[in-house]
Amino acid sequence: MCCLVGIFLLIATKAFGADVAIGVFAYQGERAAASDWSPVIRYLNQALPEHHFRLDQYDAAGLRDAIATHRVDLVITNPGYYVSIEAELGISRIATLDADGTHPARALGSVVVVRANRPDIQVLADLAGKRVAAVAPDAFGGYLVAAREMLGQGVDPESDLKEIRFVGLPMNRIIEAVQAGEVDAGIVRACLPEQMASQGLIRLEDFRALSVQQDSGLQCSLSTRLYPNWPIAVTRHTDPGLAKAVARALLAMPESSGMSWAVPADYQPVHDLYRELRIGPYAYMREITPEGLARRFWPWLLGLLAILTAWIVHTVRIEHQVHRRTAELRDSLAARDKAEAKMRESQDQMEHLSRLSVLGELSGNLAHELNQPLTTIGTYARTVLRRQERGNLTPEAITEASTEIAREAERAAGIVQRIRHFARKRRATREPIDLAEIAKEARHLLVGMLARAPEIVIENHLTPKCTVLADSAQIQQVLLNLIKNAIDACRDLPMKRQNLRIVIEPMDNRVAVHVIDHGIGLDVNQLPHLFEPFFTTKPDGLGLGLPICMTIIEAHGGRLWAEPNKDAPGMHFSFTLPCHELSA
Ligand code: ADP
Repeated sequence: MCCLVGIFLLIATKAFGADVAIGVFAYQGERAAASDWSPVIRYLNQALPEHHFRLDQYDAAGLRDAIATHRVDLVITNPGYYVSIEAELGISRIATLDADGTHPARALGSVVVVRANRPDIQVLADLAGKRVAAVAPDAFGGYLVAAREMLGQGVDPESDLKEIRFVGLPMNRIIEAVQAGEVDAGIVRACLPEQMASQGLIRLEDFRALSVQQDSGLQCSLSTRLYPNWPIAVTRHTDPGLAKAVARALLAMPESSGMSWAVPADYQPVHDLYRELRIGPYAYMREITPEGLARRFWPWLLGLLAILTAWIVHTVRIEHQVHRRTAELRDSLAARDKAEAKMRESQDQMEHLSRLSVLGELSGNLAHELNQPLTTIGTYARTVLRRQERGNLTPEAITEASTEIAREAERAAGIVQRIRHFARKRRATREPIDLAEIAKEARHLLVGMLARAPEIVIENHLTPKCTVLADSAQIQQVLLNLIKNAIDACRDLPMKRQNLRIVIEPMDNRVAVHVIDHGIGLDVNQLPHLFEPFFTTKPDGLGLGLPICMTIIEAHGGRLWAEPNKDAPGMHFSFTLPCHELSA
């Protein structure tokens, strides 16, 4: 049963012809469209009887939808709308309407009219700041064609007019609005005023057209250039055979049928208009202006601006903080330098005082030491005098006495020079030092100043690879202090126990110097206070020697400590200094 119905439909379609839907842009309403295009339908149904042509009217959105959903096979529309959807929906024109008395490619234009008694408005440029009536923002002949010309004369209809009033269709309303003085000018399709005049609706002399185009070929006033007439187009899905048959039939349509068609015109001028006005397919060009871009991308721009602002604020804050911290750092460095300088100064002062104190303590012995050469000198001098008085002064005796006097004088001068050298005020330095040499020098100085010096043995186990950078006078002072303390601790003991050992040896990456005595030592409860300032067990002691030694050694990056000898009486003082290996 189902198959039978299908076969019947197929035969019926062949016998009565398939339905061909012609979609028409009915901008003036359905009734107007039906009467406008009925000659075409009538003619096509006669010329191609195997098909059944029917007219479907649509508004702009409806026609777009009908094409997109394949509900129409042919499309008749105005040039503006055609250009708008040509590329988007893939329709292509097969013929252009050839209206009476016009060229198909130069058929449509607009006229902008004012009342004849408005001498202040002569050309389109005079419309700036005026009220203008038009059909609709997308009306081709009823607005866009004139808008392009106005723009060409420097008047942007969107922003430079006092008012643009869109009154819709029919266009007669616009002429009436101008006549009534409701607006200063009106945009209508060319020839409408003449038609209205011929119907007795207006008097042409009451109106004047602006920027009239001469030699347009039209029989009526024209304010704009001319554009091609309405096209008829096929869609992507139209059967090519049908498209060809319709095109051929339309081109052959006699004028007597009420309407005729010509080969498809060039619609480039319409494209140009849309591009200049940046509408339809060229609407995207509006977005390219700074305002358009801002309108379209404002959330992004806002975000970007926020990020940029945050970044700038962050950078400025960081910069500010860096400045502040740098200033703080500079100030604290300056303060530290100042404090260091002050500390160095007082340290120098303290060292000097300490040296003087060592000398003070040794001064009794020193007087004795100097006394010896002076006594010898005196004795020799007196012997010479005595012999001279007696008359037995021989040249040999003079030579012997002078030689002894000179040697003893040199010895005394040597003692004085060493003391002066030791006591002089000086600035700390850092230079390679020979610890064994310094120890010998200290021993020499002490032995020279003491009446009864103990034996001081120096053991040097240092490899030549290790070099110490230090202030030799300061290190000598440390050694002098330690040796003198050791001598003091042994003073009243038998001579055998008075001997001291100075051991110099490598210790990891450092050099260690040990001063070892077998003296009276210290109580365990005194040991923790050994390096405290003013700790002393001596009646004439100051208790500053060891604290100063500690300061000097620590300033050299070293360590000073003391411990009782493990299996013998006496103390073991040690200090270390960093070892610098010389590259060459
Ligand atoms: P002063 O020699 O003026 O007392 P120091 O700071 O040099 O000052 O010494 C502090 C104290 O440490 C000494 O009074 C002494 O009691 C003790 N001392 C230092 N070296 C030794 C040592 N080798 N043996 C025993 N006691 C020592």
